[in-house]
Amino acid sequence: MKKVLVNEIKLPVNVSESRNTLTGKVANNLKISKDEIKDLFIKKKSIDARHKPEIFYVYSLVVSLGDNIADKVLRNKNTSLYKEVLYNFPCDNKKNLEERPVIIGFGPAGLFCGYLLALHGFKPVIIERGSKVESRTQAVKEFWEGGKLNLNTNVQFGEGGAGTFSDGKLNTGVKDKYGRIGYMLDTFVKYGADKAITYINKPHIGTDVLTGIISSMRRDMEEMGAIFYFDTLMEDLSYEKGQISSISILLPDGSHEEIKTNNVVLAIGHSARDTFKLLHKKGIEMQNKPFAVGYRVQHKQKLINDDQYGFGNAEKYNLPASDYKLTYTSKDGHGVYSFCMCPGGYVVNASSFNKKLTINGMSYLGRDSDNANSAIVITVNEDDYGHQLFDGMKLQEELETKSYNLADGKLVFQRYEDYKVGADSVDYGEVKPVCKGQSVAGSVRGVFSEAFENNFIEAMEYYGGRIKGFNDGDSLICAVESRTSSPVKIIRDDGFEANIKGIYPCGEGAGYAGGITSAAVDGMKVAEQIAKNINLNYT
Ligand SMILES: Cc1cc2nc3c(=O)[nH]c(=O)nc-3n(C[C@H](O)[C@H](O)[C@H](O)COP(=O)(O)OP(=O)(O)OC[C@H]3O[C@@H](n4cnc5c(N)ncnc54)[C@H](O)[C@@H]3O)c2cc1C
Repeated sequence: MKKVLVNEIKLPVNVSESRNTLTGKVANNLKISKDEIKDLFIKKKSIDARHKPEIFYVYSLVVSLGDNIADKVLRNKNTSLYKEVLYNFPCDNKKNLEERPVIIGFGPAGLFCGYLLALHGFKPVIIERGSKVESRTQAVKEFWEGGKLNLNTNVQFGEGGAGTFSDGKLNTGVKDKYGRIGYMLDTFVKYGADKAITYINKPHIGTDVLTGIISSMRRDMEEMGAIFYFDTLMEDLSYEKGQISSISILLPDGSHEEIKTNNVVLAIGHSARDTFKLLHKKGIEMQNKPFAVGYRVQHKQKLINDDQYGFGNAEKYNLPASDYKLTYTSKDGHGVYSFCMCPGGYVVNASSFNKKLTINGMSYLGRDSDNANSAIVITVNEDDYGHQLFDGMKLQEELETKSYNLADGKLVFQRYEDYKVGADSVDYGEVKPVCKGQSVAGSVRGVFSEAFENNFIEAMEYYGGRIKGFNDGDSLICAVESRTSSPVKIIRDDGFEANIKGIYPCGEGAGYAGGITSAAVDGMKVAEQIAKNINLNYT
């Protein structure tokens, strides 16, 4: 028996996707009898709306065939021998560890690093400044309803990290030679995600599903011997002869504790400004890195669906809320592009510092809100913000302060027509804000420089030629999208260690990932390295 990958199997979107239909379709394409197909599963599924009104689901299917018939069909185009890449963790812990590996931060990077270490007997200790996801969800809800911002438990900080209140997009440009992404997706499925995330070409989980998955994974990790400290800040670290020896933590009751350890993972995310400064003070090498800043724009989801699928087709065929990706180079040479597009989502107040406002996008599994939103951003680097370490972080702080001051921390939405002429919005047109957090109509002009504002207008007008209605006057603009990625990179060597041995910068905050999946993959790589190092040092 051989497994053959068959690409380009198309089904019109109005044909129901049953095993029988897919078997018939693939047998027909391969010119073999249905009975020859002993097994079949979906490897990839995407939508092709390039020839609308005809819209297709396009599949890559893996079929099991007898050897002779497989050899025959492998001569057809769009077929290849299927080789499954199975993820392999390098080694289990066999020793009674005197000092456990410690992971700072329980976002996707810390989650997968910790999960693998726990699963393979390394009993990690996990320190997270924010609360468990259950109480975190309540704290965030209260903040969005007008309550006080909790500086340690918010949209950026707490169990699950920055991605917990997110769209849960899981697509990434990262290559998957070793099966890490497949393993990550399978793990999410094991803990409650829909199996479809393993084959949809742009998988998404939704904040509602993600929160449950994270708490279930944590409970299993505890059973496997991991120890968690929530509402606990890593406030200091010590090392001897260039090797980490302990960390200090600030517990929720205000007391301090020292944990001795030889291995510390810094999975701290992009928003831990105090921790970045601490690490710099302690001599950990880091440098500025480019990141992107801009606005978030909102449109009716129907406008995007009609453009991408053809008028009314989304409703007619029950198609998923459509996304888009837009790029433009301004006359003065700046790349202006859409980022973190959230179909059927919400613009959320994602602040984590007093009197500083930052925003982002979130959606539920159903992606069924009235609006689509995305960030429209421009990349900034040292030439834009300065060459001193943390100048990028200062730029973030300036933009966030200005945005906060627009309306005392409320999200300000401005109609694009008003934005263009520099007038305050007093009301909304066809597009009403769909958001989490207090909001008002007003003006976001002045948060960025005039040159930036002109680039944005140029880009919006250009995008209007790509997606009909994108530059409509009623489209809404909100500021500021400032946490697209980390403003610094913590230097690490080929063995994933910083200039202090035993310290492993990891994930998005350290500058080695951008998004949930790549952060999780980086966490896995660091776990593999720690496991190898521990076993080496003990044998
Ligand atoms: C609203 C929103 C929507 C998003 N949507 C998507 C999306 O759809 N798809 C996608 O791929 N990405 C999305 N992202 C980005 C994604 O969340 C991040 O890329 C990802 O979470 C980075 O993972 P990480 O583990 O590296 O860091 P983080 O998730 O930021 O986790 C870092 C953790 O470290 C903790 N920490 C920091 N310092 C300390 C300390 N000193 N002591 C103890 N704990 C500490 C923090 O509390 C935090 O929980 C979104 C982000 C936000 C905010």
